[in-house]
Amino acid sequence: MEQQHKPIRRIVIAGGGTAGWMAAAALSRTLGKVLDITLVESDEIGTVGVGEATIPTLVHFHRLLDINEQEFMAATQATFKLGISFENWRDRGKDYIHSFGTTGTDHWTAGFQHFWMKGRERGLARDYGDYCMELKAGEARKFAHLPNDGLHYAYHLDAGRYARFLRRFSEHFGVQRVEAKIASVEQAANGDIAALVLDSGKRIEGDLFIDCTGFRSLLLGQTLGVGYQDWSHWLFNDSAIAVQTESMGPALPMTRSIAHDWGWQWRIPLQNRVGNGIVYASRFVDDDTAKATLLGNIEGKALTEPRVIRFKPGQREKTWSHNCVAIGLSSGFLEPIESTSIHLIQRAIVRLLQNFPSQGIRQSDVDEYNNQTWSEIEFIRDFIILHYKVTDRRDSPYWKQAAEMAVPPQLQHRIDMFQQTGRAFRIVNELFGENSWIQVMLGQGIMPEQHHPSADLMGDEELSAFLEGIRTHVERTVAQLPPHQQYVERYCGAK
Ligand code: FAD
Repeated sequence: MEQQHKPIRRIVIAGGGTAGWMAAAALSRTLGKVLDITLVESDEIGTVGVGEATIPTLVHFHRLLDINEQEFMAATQATFKLGISFENWRDRGKDYIHSFGTTGTDHWTAGFQHFWMKGRERGLARDYGDYCMELKAGEARKFAHLPNDGLHYAYHLDAGRYARFLRRFSEHFGVQRVEAKIASVEQAANGDIAALVLDSGKRIEGDLFIDCTGFRSLLLGQTLGVGYQDWSHWLFNDSAIAVQTESMGPALPMTRSIAHDWGWQWRIPLQNRVGNGIVYASRFVDDDTAKATLLGNIEGKALTEPRVIRFKPGQREKTWSHNCVAIGLSSGFLEPIESTSIHLIQRAIVRLLQNFPSQGIRQSDVDEYNNQTWSEIEFIRDFIILHYKVTDRRDSPYWKQAAEMAVPPQLQHRIDMFQQTGRAFRIVNELFGENSWIQVMLGQGIMPEQHHPSADLMGDEELSAFLEGIRTHVERTVAQLPPHQQYVERYCGAK
């Protein structure tokens, strides 16, 4: 690519879904005084309309932008989320929770799981989850903000309302919104994007283009021709059907993920409704069967028509090429099992701000951005594959094939290490930490063969006191929390 050293002042964001408006909000809040930001979106094309479960990093993103949590939650009908309940994943009838936060207390030589395993061997330990505050609060349907971020949480939110909320926020900080269809994309002689041409014939020129056009990937994929790495040999699901239903009872502060014979189903409770969907592999089941299964497993009246969404699990080889950065679905998509997409949007925005090419685009910025994106996504991909690979299920061709597939070597290493030694380590810059890996590996059915010798240094009495001290602290704290539904109603003034 020919080096561009033209100062970057005009930012054009193509697309106004969650990705487009999150990018507009962050860029205008931080650099709005020195940039002209235009966002083009088409009401007729619309957004993907799903993406309603998040992880705790969104709380921090909002804090960076100075977004008021009560206003945000009231505007988006949000509820709190403390984790994900995985049902029928390890086997039919077997459930576990992957919660936020940490479990127990680590020793510097060995994680808490080693002491728990020793306790279990000696008949002194309860369930692993009994030592985790977020997990027990989620199970008890309770919630409150605790001092010093004592309870790690995220949100369930209405994606359409979230985009509108961020639109108001961004327009306040100077973003110009254009409602139109992009008919074509004009390139300069060096291949850079020069302008978006709207269906009215109007041209929108820019120095830097942010492609938030969703699965279409109009700029990075279609115009610049950046290739796509397809990961469907590890992640078989390529379709989803979504439907919204009325709320039936108090909102659970957890996403539910219920495995079926050829995919899984989500339930995301908001204040005013529930988001439901089924994710499946079209080579194992047809759309009609998937739809009937979804509709047969919802509670409450359907408020929308079920919609089929197709996707290809994978990632663009580069997410920054020429003067175009793709953020959101235009850059790739991993299935939503661990609610990582909105997090990846936020990471891409932060990364762009950290590498912002105000004096012109340098290849080193582009390379750094792409390298960071790639290493981040591979860790997340592996964590997602783990849910399919490690399972006792062999009751359908889908699960049989998932359990028997060869996985990336670095993931196989982590599985073997935990199985053989009980060890799990977070890799630098990895999103999911030890707690996540351990909860999911235990939950999916791995029981390590041995524990660390540090745990043997404790006698039964000391070990029992150590475990009970943690457990009773969790139990007492959770007992004092109010019901989640009641807390949300008071906090947001929702009735
Ligand atoms: P979109 O929402 O598709 O927005 C694209 C925008 O581009 C729209 O405004 C559209 O109008 C515009 N556009 C496109 N073409 C043109 C054109 N020619 N002219 C003008 N405008 C155009 N993520 C999570 O974090 N948690 C979840 O629980 C979760 N669940 C998901 C479930 C499913 C089934 C799927 C498929 C995804 C899920 N995701 C989830 C991902 C999440 O939905 C997306 O990351 C998020 O919604 C961002 O989408 P987007 O803004 O990139 O694309």
